[in-house]
Amino acid sequence: MKKAKNILNTTNLTRMVMALAILLTLIAVFLVVTKRAPASRSRAADECRTVVMVTSGDTLSQLLTAQGLSHNDVNDIAKVLKANAGITTLRADNDKIEFLRTDDNAPVSKIVVVPSPWKQVELTCTDGSWDCKTIDIERDRRAVHRSGEIKDGDSFYLAGQRAGIPAGILIEVYDLLAFEMDFERDVRAGQKFSVLYEENFSDGKKVDNGRVLAVSFEALRGNVKMYRFKKSDGTVGYYDENGNGAIKSLKRTPINNAKITSKFSRNRKHPVLGYTRAHKGVDFRASTGTPIPAAGAGRVVARSFNRGHGNFVKIRHNGSFETLYAHMSKFAKGVNVGTNVRQGQTIGYVGSTGYSTGPHLHYEIIKDGVHVNPMTVKLPAISNLGKDDKKKFIEYREILDEGIEKLQSHPNMYIQL
Ligand SMILES: [Zn+2]
Repeated sequence: MKKAKNILNTTNLTRMVMALAILLTLIAVFLVVTKRAPASRSRAADECRTVVMVTSGDTLSQLLTAQGLSHNDVNDIAKVLKANAGITTLRADNDKIEFLRTDDNAPVSKIVVVPSPWKQVELTCTDGSWDCKTIDIERDRRAVHRSGEIKDGDSFYLAGQRAGIPAGILIEVYDLLAFEMDFERDVRAGQKFSVLYEENFSDGKKVDNGRVLAVSFEALRGNVKMYRFKKSDGTVGYYDENGNGAIKSLKRTPINNAKITSKFSRNRKHPVLGYTRAHKGVDFRASTGTPIPAAGAGRVVARSFNRGHGNFVKIRHNGSFETLYAHMSKFAKGVNVGTNVRQGQTIGYVGSTGYSTGPHLHYEIIKDGVHVNPMTVKLPAISNLGKDDKKKFIEYREILDEGIEKLQSHPNMYIQL
């Protein structure tokens, strides 16, 4: 197998591009592009172009009139933009409009509105009437690698921020790891973690962050690794290093980063009732009003109140699982008995109704009618790989690991996707 090739990035010598050309032929997931010019930059030699950056107070009609367009043209353009591109207002400091003429003195024949870095709207005039089409601008995707280590007293979030991982990416990573890890018990000082994720560039400038491509965490119970992979049927999922589905049908911790205040136990002293009885679920501390996401896709089978649980929702999932969420301050709109919910959909809000000492989520998983420990129960994967996909995945994963290894020693490099 060919080794990944290092190419010097001409715009910044300290920043290097690692082009994994071999991936293209193998998996057709990564695309190696050298100097790509965005569509908006292409121009015919005989075109005359005026670029106007929208500033505060500008209106579309003012900007068009200033370019010599007639009242009728202005009306036409506003109508077409609204109907075909959904554009009704311009955003100062964000939007850009380009006016094209065949020569300096000719009327405007084409207008390009750039309402976002990933979209441009082209208006062309034929026989006095304006037509419009929307063109998606391809993202220049670069995979960057960040790694860090848990220090004493750290949360994963703090350590992740210190490692330079953006908040949005950290939330996604947490979401992924939460399928495999118990952040209460599995996180200790000295553990290392890393993330490979995309940064989207347009015109050489970073615009936003893209998808999480790979995650690793040295958990107490062994290394957790996850890779994003597209199956041959086009569906995308995350898989462990052996190609087993990493996204489980249920989440162990429905609320991100919520601290466990009471564990599952067959025997505990109830904080309100005072006597010893089993704690059939896990309590997560969260403030009143925090949205409670469904741990998995399923159908709501109870949305009710009782003295112990207060306001609670129960969901029946595929297979033999049910989940229950108690002490809610209120239910989410549109969530009723019989409602089908998706994984992550808000079903209610944290509260302290029922037997409760303070705002928290009491979460239960019931398997075949028996309460099980949400933190340790073995959960089925949502999607697994077939034989062919598994083979492709392993090849892809090996190449990606090789790239990650290089990035580990060169944190300023990136992989051009
Ligand atoms: Zn509880």
